[in-house]
Amino acid sequence: MTQSPVSRVVLFFRAAASGAALVLLTGIGGGPAPVAGLTPVARGEDQAPPPAAVPKQESAPTPPPAAKKKPAVKPTDDPNNPDEDPNQPPDPKGAAEPPAGERAVGEAERGSPLYAAGHVDYRGVLHAHSFLSHDSSGTRRKIIAAAGETGLDFLMMTDHPNNPESVTRGLTGWHGRTLFTAGEEKGVSGGGSLMAIDLARRVRGKGLQEQIDDTVAQGGQAWICHAESWKEWDFPGLTGIEVYNLHYDALLDGKMFIVLAAASKWLKTDPDRAFKQILDRPDPILKKWDQVTRKRRFPAVAGNDSHENVVFAGVQMDPYPRSFRFVNTHVFVKGRLTRSNLREALAEGRAYICHEMFGDGFGFSFTASRPSGEAVSPGEETTFGPGMALRVTAPKKARVTLIRDGETVAESEGETADCSWPVVDPGVYRVELTIRDPKDDDKVRPWIYSNPIYLRPPGWTPAPRTPPAAGGGEEF
Ligand SMILES: [Zn+2]
Repeated sequence: MTQSPVSRVVLFFRAAASGAALVLLTGIGGGPAPVAGLTPVARGEDQAPPPAAVPKQESAPTPPPAAKKKPAVKPTDDPNNPDEDPNQPPDPKGAAEPPAGERAVGEAERGSPLYAAGHVDYRGVLHAHSFLSHDSSGTRRKIIAAAGETGLDFLMMTDHPNNPESVTRGLTGWHGRTLFTAGEEKGVSGGGSLMAIDLARRVRGKGLQEQIDDTVAQGGQAWICHAESWKEWDFPGLTGIEVYNLHYDALLDGKMFIVLAAASKWLKTDPDRAFKQILDRPDPILKKWDQVTRKRRFPAVAGNDSHENVVFAGVQMDPYPRSFRFVNTHVFVKGRLTRSNLREALAEGRAYICHEMFGDGFGFSFTASRPSGEAVSPGEETTFGPGMALRVTAPKKARVTLIRDGETVAESEGETADCSWPVVDPGVYRVELTIRDPKDDDKVRPWIYSNPIYLRPPGWTPAPRTPPAAGGGEEF
């Protein structure tokens, strides 16, 4: 009987698991030596976060008595905004260069084989709203402080276009350790949104295709956002998909009610635990994403959809620091992070998603390597050949699931921080890691989703890729 490639792989992995010693449980201590040219300094993910720079509310300037009589107004970055320092209005345009000493690599990351290949892992947030959106009052000062407090290397803002200056007044450049870009979340008729990131100006165009084209033409990227509402994913020019969206997850199965019930129990004593109850694996979106990546490369990111606008029982459920830690998108970049290589890493899918609340992702890697040692990272494609192996490393023990062409083909035996499998067939391979949360009754939680590695059959020819638009604004 002829076996399909998938079943052959399953059988192979089962054989491996039964005693062929092909699943390695080695731990990740003693990683490769740092790569020349990258100065390893403490990133500090294991250290206490730096103190927040946000001014305490009580230390804000006291408004004159007359101001108290005015009706409450939505905070803006106007000098009269009581949440800002009127003597030092924040400049939305940050520095062109990161502050010296802020480029940092931690111990866990140096254990990653991708670090040995010259990649540095940077984490950040896509999809966040400020006072420039109609449904948030987050000030620039508060967002910059939260990004610093949570150790974000990049933060890609996506305000709603209700404000004509949503992009031009948005945060850009380096503020502290974080690289900001401005963007827009534009509603799509029929449901869902277009997440247009790293823009120079607002998106123009009547229909969705025109808006995607305009996004790309000005050097930005067009991502499917709130994918659950998109019926069709096949628009030319789309960069990829926001495969996890916090807001969608909160609404799944009416779960907001569960969250609120949990909140009543833990809100005051452990608000993080209350917030974690939102989390689920986005099954339908992952299934559809797997179908698409079988046909073409299609990168995935996470969307935080941070607003800091949910108050329950008088408690702010989603302060920026909490929603920034909930899930991050990590990118692998060679050397220091810049606007252009961040854009390139996202477009290529050299990225993974990590629910940082259950542990920092630094140190995670997923590689496909040849006997010669040559290795590719998530997002990349290469010709399948004999002797290839897939390897996963993680900074903490987790359960690893290997998925090929949308089907689970192998799982680690128990929890591990390092495992590898031989590959016997070409295919589109990605991994998911789950982890137990000791702070929540050891519940098993989704932790990491990698982008796929595309192992092509011999004789394949690369599909034409749309190169990133030239320009795209100044470098920072
Ligand atoms: Zn949003």
